[in-house]
Amino acid sequence: MRATLDFLLRDWLTVEALCERPRFADHNAETFGAVLDTAEKIAKEKFAPFNRLVDLQEPHFDGEKVILPQATHDAFAAYACSGMLAAAQDYELGGMQLPYTVEASANAIFSMASVSISWAMLTVGNANLLMAHGTEKQKDVFAKNEFSGRWMGTMCLSEPQAGSSLSDVATKAVLEDDTDVLGARYRLSGNKMWISGGEHEVTENIVHLVLAKIPDADGKLIPGTRGISLFVVPKKIVDIDGNITGERNDVSLAGLNHKCGWRGTTNALLNFGEGKFKPDGKAGAIGYLVGKPGAGLSCMFHMMNEARIGVGLAATMLGMAGYEASLDYAKQRTQGRAITTGGKAVEQSPIPIIEHADIKRMLLAQKSYCEGALALALYCAKLVDETHTGESDAVAEAKLLLEVLTPIVKSWPSEWCLEANSLAIQIHGGYGYTRDFPVEQFWRDNRLNMIHEGTHGIQALDLLGRKVVMDGGKGLTLLAIKMNETIMRAMQMHPLVDHAQALAKALQRVVQATKAAWSTGNPTEALANATPYLQAFGHTVLAWIWLDVVSATATETHLQPSVPLGAEGAFRAGKLAAMRYFFHYELPKIDAWLAVVSSRDLTCANVAVDCF
Ligand SMILES: Cc1cc2nc3c(=O)[nH]c(=O)nc-3n(C[C@H](O)[C@H](O)[C@H](O)COP(=O)(O)OP(=O)(O)OC[C@H]3O[C@@H](n4cnc5c(N)ncnc54)[C@H](O)[C@@H]3O)c2cc1C
Repeated sequence: MRATLDFLLRDWLTVEALCERPRFADHNAETFGAVLDTAEKIAKEKFAPFNRLVDLQEPHFDGEKVILPQATHDAFAAYACSGMLAAAQDYELGGMQLPYTVEASANAIFSMASVSISWAMLTVGNANLLMAHGTEKQKDVFAKNEFSGRWMGTMCLSEPQAGSSLSDVATKAVLEDDTDVLGARYRLSGNKMWISGGEHEVTENIVHLVLAKIPDADGKLIPGTRGISLFVVPKKIVDIDGNITGERNDVSLAGLNHKCGWRGTTNALLNFGEGKFKPDGKAGAIGYLVGKPGAGLSCMFHMMNEARIGVGLAATMLGMAGYEASLDYAKQRTQGRAITTGGKAVEQSPIPIIEHADIKRMLLAQKSYCEGALALALYCAKLVDETHTGESDAVAEAKLLLEVLTPIVKSWPSEWCLEANSLAIQIHGGYGYTRDFPVEQFWRDNRLNMIHEGTHGIQALDLLGRKVVMDGGKGLTLLAIKMNETIMRAMQMHPLVDHAQALAKALQRVVQATKAAWSTGNPTEALANATPYLQAFGHTVLAWIWLDVVSATATETHLQPSVPLGAEGAFRAGKLAAMRYFFHYELPKIDAWLAVVSSRDLTCANVAVDCF
């Protein structure tokens, strides 16, 4: 994996060119490499060896505290100590001013070692949000203590009755004092469901970022998302210098969720303001307004690109973990004999299963999904760096591309790298279905990614309902321009001409299907098949990414079938084989997906509920 990561960063994305920008001027290829080496070392020592342990020793509540294995405490301490929490921050904040692309790459290494021990990334998202929208005092007291590793953070959006539809958030925030130094002080009451890292003792305090509604003059909650505001709610009350006062805020654990996977991260139902604790002698969780009243969701969405790239990368790295495990297994496991023209050579010894074409098919599928998804995630991460440090035209272009690609970078790896995990189990045969091998855990851990950060169905609606049609389809047009640039380059390379033509045809079909879906202007018809559209769009994007990686990095010699292998040759030939697999076995699937989109097939939409 590391070789592929280095190859994509260096040979494809030329990430060290970012060092020409003032913000990254102190960096170079060596410092980037050193960050990844450190991540690898810590991941190997503190994360990977405990991945199964945290799965078996689920978090539990002893009546007073949530208990996690010691390994989780140690892993967080090592991660914080490495400076990773503040990696992208300014030097003055103790940061390294690292490009997001490199930070995300280092985090990918941790995710692969143990996705569920790696929940410190939530803290980074929380603190980044405070840096973007908090007051100076909120940054000082809350964000800085998160970057240093003193406290961890959460994101409290979901409620038992409000998951996909956050407009139904019912947590209430009533103003208490708008002159508090930490920000206008409110009392919050309500329930937050599914809160990752919601309760634990890994750090002495937890900084919750909570979406809640401020009632209007009649005491009613404003319907829709307009009424949603954002609050910072510490588990333990702190003073204006960030000292813990000793008083508990009125945030209490209602229960832990027992999950299918990702068990190293606690997941909690939290009650705010139920009166279990009474800060200042009163029930109600104390929260400080972040940003403007009613702007809570837009503050949250500010961080969405990075959060969703993070989910896509986590899905990718779980896929990669399964790929590497099944590759090892396939080399060692012997079973069956080669099929020769004379039938099976029964007198010969069994062969390693990696020699069977069907096993190679499953390995190539995994490789094409996971390495392709990694390339896409790094491409999007580089767009994020562009939005932060690029020239103004490049910033606008990167923002527009991210609008269209974000639903894909989140969803595509969640679906297809999960499929990769299923194939990794299949390669292990019966052993894959046992807990003696790690692949079943990878699948269980990965199953979350199609659910959180906007479910698959919601991402699909966002893509077809908004992203490809907004501003007259500007985002889709720009993406098509980028794809055409790749197509033109590949057309100049003889062995890639067929692939370039196939991509051109796929792009044309996606554009036609987008128009056909919206041709009646009826959203019910257009969006009835949003998920097949997401799948076809995603496959087309991945075909483009693969063709771009290969056409930008390979010479004509690399593309010759008779190129002598050796380590470098085999590495290149592997990339080429994965690209070919994707074009021959995967890209043709888009026709079936787009057929129902284009014909606005209402089979699903119109079936009566009673028919089930
Ligand atoms: C392990 C885990 C960790 C999580 N961590 C956090 C966290 O830290 N903070 C946080 O705030 N939340 C968190 N979540 C919550 C997560 O974001 C929600 O589960 C998710 O948004 C879906 O909400 P829901 O579970 O209520 O499902 P629902 O919204 O009820 O959706 C159920 C199904 O209906 C579909 N559906 C819903 N609405 C529509 C529609 N309009 N059109 C078509 N289909 C629709 C969905 O796609 C889905 O398939 C976590 C969830 C889990 C499982």
